[in-house]
Amino acid sequence: MNSIKTIDEALFIELDDDNANITISGVPVLLMSKSTFGSLHKGILDALGKGARPMFYTSGYDAGKNSAPVVIRQWKCKTTDEIISATIQQFTRYGWLLLKDIELSDNQREITCTVIKSVEAMTHTGKSDTPICYFMEGFLCGYMEVVFNKKDMMCEEISCHAMGDDVCRFVIKPKFWEE
Ligand SMILES: [Zn+2]
Repeated sequence: MNSIKTIDEALFIELDDDNANITISGVPVLLMSKSTFGSLHKGILDALGKGARPMFYTSGYDAGKNSAPVVIRQWKCKTTDEIISATIQQFTRYGWLLLKDIELSDNQREITCTVIKSVEAMTHTGKSDTPICYFMEGFLCGYMEVVFNKKDMMCEEISCHAMGDDVCRFVIKPKFWEE
């Protein structure tokens, strides 16, 4: 489980030098160092504060919606349990986070995701008064809507490594109250 995999085992990477293109599982991607991402993220938050949230959340939501079908297809998942298992394994390979747990509440309405090593929290560790993994909030919302076949969900981060918490914890629940 924790063994180091070769790139071919872990990701389907193709390099197209003529067009400066890298694709993973057929999706064009950008490689960026974590410190570059960290300074970009911190710079935007320093400039915009809480106003940065909608921007990160919306782009994360779209990315999550698009990412779920790719993982489901790549891992040939048939059941929700298989998707969850594939998701936990695949996410570590993207370098954004370590997904510890995905839990559906007894009433099936809420999904709680527990994350360690969030790349968004990395440069803010213990220095923030509020959760700041805004992209991840949107991403997990869009992704889990696909996995659990739900719509009109919202995600709120309730604890964050950036605030000094041990983990980042995200609760995804319906936007509107359902009877
Ligand atoms: Zn966080």
